[in-house]
Amino acid sequence: MAQQNTEHMSTLRDLYIEQLRDLYDAETQLTKALPKMAAAASSPDLKKGFTQHLEQTQNHVQRLQQILTGMGVGLGGKPCEAMKGLIKEGDEVMKIKGDADVKDAALIAAAQRVEHYEMAGYGVVRTFAQHLGQSEAKKLLQSTLDEEGETDKKLTSLAEGGLFKSGINDKAMNGDDSNASSKKK
Ligand code: FE
Ligand code: FE
Repeated sequence: MAQQNTEHMSTLRDLYIEQLRDLYDAETQLTKALPKMAAAASSPDLKKGFTQHLEQTQNHVQRLQQILTGMGVGLGGKPCEAMKGLIKEGDEVMKIKGDADVKDAALIAAAQRVEHYEMAGYGVVRTFAQHLGQSEAKKLLQSTLDEEGETDKKLTSLAEGGLFKSGINDKAMNGDDSNASSKKK
């Protein structure tokens, strides 16, 4: 969440705008991070998942733009520190060397933290929009919230259906020597 201490905030509308700007910055950061996540993923399905969510994310940025400009206010420009931190953790995952499936699982873990952060943010602004009688904005924000939720579920099924079944866990449990030695640095 961005620091907006210098801004005057006396109404729910003020807070709503601050929260929208925070999300706008967070989503903008993500449009730069997701291509790197896609490049770092080994599983073709995971790569595709990140690329597809990049397209959705670009649309999320546009929806926020549409809502803020529709209210006659600027887009802000204050960084979302929380998203910066989440992306930094993702960057650290990208540097991991070792088993490709384990790295993919780590990328999924980082990505799911991002989706949950977004879901929390959109749940808040969706509810604010509802209380402020902004029905059109509420619809747009609900659509984004739904897409973040679907992405989170898709990441879970990629981990459970693909990676885990294909054996990242089995390799460890069976003490697969070739894999174990490749993991030692
Ligand atoms: Fe998003
Ligand atoms: Fe997202």
